[in-house]
Amino acid sequence: MTPITNPATKPATERASKTLHGTPVVPGVVFAPAVLAATAVDPAAIAAYTGPDDAEEALSSFNQAAAAVSDGLEKKAAAAAGAAAEVLHATAGLARDKGLRGAVATNVRGGASLLPAVRAAVEQFVGAFTQIGGLMAERVTDLLDVEKRLVATIVGVPEPGIPTPEVPSVLLAEDLAPADTAGLDPSLILALVTERGGPTSHTAIIARQLGLPCVVGVRDLLDVAAGTDVLVDGAAGTVEVSPDADDAAARVAADREVRARIDAWNGPAATADGVGIKVLANVGDRESAEAAAAGPVDGSGLFRTELCFLNTTVEPSVEEQAVVYAAVLGAFGAERPVVVRTLDAGSDKPIAYATQADEENPALGVRGLRLSLHNPDLLLRQLDAIALAARGTGTEPWVMAPMVATVDEAATFAAEVRKRGLKPGVMIEIPAAALHAARILEVVDFVSIGTNDLTQYTMAADRMATDLAHLTDAWQPAVLELIRITAEAGRAADKPVGVCGEAAADPLLATVLVGLGVTSLSMAGAAVRAVGAQLATVTSDDCRRAADAALSAADPAGARSAAQQALASSR
Ligand code: PEP
Ligand code: MG
Repeated sequence: MTPITNPATKPATERASKTLHGTPVVPGVVFAPAVLAATAVDPAAIAAYTGPDDAEEALSSFNQAAAAVSDGLEKKAAAAAGAAAEVLHATAGLARDKGLRGAVATNVRGGASLLPAVRAAVEQFVGAFTQIGGLMAERVTDLLDVEKRLVATIVGVPEPGIPTPEVPSVLLAEDLAPADTAGLDPSLILALVTERGGPTSHTAIIARQLGLPCVVGVRDLLDVAAGTDVLVDGAAGTVEVSPDADDAAARVAADREVRARIDAWNGPAATADGVGIKVLANVGDRESAEAAAAGPVDGSGLFRTELCFLNTTVEPSVEEQAVVYAAVLGAFGAERPVVVRTLDAGSDKPIAYATQADEENPALGVRGLRLSLHNPDLLLRQLDAIALAARGTGTEPWVMAPMVATVDEAATFAAEVRKRGLKPGVMIEIPAAALHAARILEVVDFVSIGTNDLTQYTMAADRMATDLAHLTDAWQPAVLELIRITAEAGRAADKPVGVCGEAAADPLLATVLVGLGVTSLSMAGAAVRAVGAQLATVTSDDCRRAADAALSAADPAGARSAAQQALASSR
C-alpha cells in the first residue's frame, strides 16, 4: 500500500523552481493562484485624515469606531461556529476594552491627536501582552487587527481584510486575525499561508477547524506577487512558486487519493500486521468531547480541564466542577475511557483563581501540579470533583497530573488519586521526568508524554516563539530520545505510555512514536483519521525502522526524511 505521507510530499528540492519553507499545520496539497490579504489601511486615507482638535470630540469618534468595530466582529462571531466564534467574540471584546479606551482617553487628553493616541495605547497593551507571554502574546495579532479596524473606521475607509477572489485561490498574508479567517469561503480560499505565526496561532487553529491546508511562518512569503501560481504542501510545510503545472497537478491528484483513503478510515487503529494502537482525542469541554466522541476514537487521552475555566474568576465548587467533568466523561460513556488532566494553570494558560501572580518566568514557575505547593486543597477538591463525576456517569476516568518533575511528586499525587478509587498517571513533559520514567512508573499506573512542553523544556525554547520554530519541533532527535527512554520504561513495567502533545497528530511522526514503543496517541479530533489511516499502511517493523532512522538523524528535517526513506525502502 502507498504510505500516506509519501506521494504528495516528495522532497521539494527534486523538482521546484523556487520553494519557500515554513511550519506545516494542516496537511493537503493545493495548486492555485495566490491572492494577498489586504492587511494595511490605505495610507493615503490615513495621511488625509485630520481628526477633531477637541479631546472630547476625538474620544467620542474613538468610542463610535470602537462600538462599530466591536458590533461588526460580534456579527461575524454570530455567523461562525466553534473555535472561530469564540476567538471572534474575544476579539470583539478587545475592541470595546475599557483599559484600551482609558489609555486612548489619557493620550488625547494629554494633547495627542486621535490616531497617534490610538497607536500609543495599542503599543502599551502589545508590550504588556508580550511580557506576559504564552497565550496572551498570541493575542497581540488580534489586538493589532483591532487597531487596523479602528483606524479604518475612524478615517472612513473599509476595514482591511481578505479580497474575494474570482477563481479558487491560495490566500497569502503576513498574519491572519480570526476576524479575517472566520468568514472565509472554503470553495474560493483553498489554502492558507502566512509569513508569521506558529503552529498554535489563530490562523493555525482556524485552518484546522476549516480543514484548509495551511503553512505558517514562511519567510519571504510576501515577495510572491498576487496571481502567481503556487503549490502549497501543508504536510511538508512548503510553498513552491510557479512550479511545473503538470507536476503540480500530479501531486494534487496523488494527495487527493491519500485524502480519500483518510476519509474512508473508520478505526479501530492498528498497524498493517494487526498490532492495535489506541487512537484518542484531546478535548477541552463538552462540545469538543461530543464532537470527538462521534468519530472513530477509543476515548480521550487528554481532557485539558483548565480550558473549562479560562474565564472563571472564582474557583467553582466541587459540585459545579463535577457537572463540567461529567459532561465530558458522559460524552465518551463507560466503554471509552477519558484521561482527565488536573488543572494545568499558569504560564500560557492563566486561570484567575489558580495562577501564581507576577512570576518572573512563568513557564518555569508555579504551573500545573506545582500549584499544590501553595494551595494543596485546590488539587484535592478537583480530585473530589472528578471522583464525583465518575460516580455520577458510571465511568472510570484515568487521572493525570501535568508538569511533574520528580518521583516524589508522582507518588504523592498517585496516593491521592487512588484514595478516590481512580487510576493515577502523570504527564512526562519535563526532561527530568523522562529520564526517571522507570522510577515514576513504579508509583503510577500510566504515563502520557506531553511533547509540546517536553520539546520546549528539552530545547530550552519557548513553544510560542515563531523565531524558534526550528527548535520547538518534536522531531528533534533529542526529544525523540527522551520519548524512547520513556516508552522503554513503559514496556519494561508493562504499563501504558501515551503521547498527547501535537506530535501525535503528525501521521509520519505517529509511526515513529509507535516504533519507539508508545501505546496510545491522543490528538485533535480532526487529525484522528489521517493518523489511523497512516498506521494501517505500515507494519510494526516498519515503525521500528522509521524510529531508528529518526533517532540517528542530526536534526528535525533529517529525522523526517530518514523516517520517510525507511518506510519507502521497506515497500
Ligand atoms: C503538552 O505539553 O504536550 C501537552 C499536551 O500539554 P499542553 O499543550 O496543554 O501544555
Ligand atoms: Mg503541557
